[in-house]
Amino acid sequence: MDMKTVLVVEDEREIARMVQTYLMREGYRVEVAFTGEEGWTLFKNLQPDLVVLDLMLPGMHGLEVARRIRQGATTPIIMLTARTEEADRVAGLEMGADDYVTKPFSLRELAARVRAVLRRTEGATVPEVIRVGNLTVDLAAREARLGGALLDLTPTEFDLLAFFARHPGRVFTRRELLEALQERTYATLPRTVDSHVKNLRHKIEPDPEDPIYILTVHGVGYKFRPAEGE
Ligand code: CA
Repeated sequence: MDMKTVLVVEDEREIARMVQTYLMREGYRVEVAFTGEEGWTLFKNLQPDLVVLDLMLPGMHGLEVARRIRQGATTPIIMLTARTEEADRVAGLEMGADDYVTKPFSLRELAARVRAVLRRTEGATVPEVIRVGNLTVDLAAREARLGGALLDLTPTEFDLLAFFARHPGRVFTRRELLEALQERTYATLPRTVDSHVKNLRHKIEPDPEDPIYILTVHGVGYKFRPAEGE
């Protein structure tokens, strides 16, 4: 997995540095801004994966930074607030901040929140379970079912099916499918894809000779049946 970038906006330099050092040790790339203006500029340049945002900042208030971020991005925001800033905290959450930590906080707690929020927001972008017709593909559990019955798929067959299911209606060449499977197989021949598709069809298609899920696109490759209504 590639390294996640966290932007820390905090005017108390000592806190900012401590947070930076701790999160870097946890495996994140961390950039620090000491004012709201600087934070907003860095946000636009860095496109970070998450923002740790102090609310009480000199100049541009943290809430204003959050508002600007939310106008164009869904980047997760964790607010740092003082116990006495309850109204700000509520305003921040209403503005779309994902979580908050009350000062004084432990670095371990902040790191746990960062991890949790990143996990939550990542999961939200890709559905874990894809349903097409009678077919259900559970990406997290690595299970596929047909009409409720668990399918006995090889790891490669599951990867191929999962790849198809994530891109319904899109036409793929054999070469592209081979590349998608590269981590699993060292095969280099496009014909290998044909044999995996053939095996998969025998397991998922009601009639493998007349497939309804994995469709042949003559002269090009294959495509997965589009979701209903597409
Ligand atoms: Ca502050």
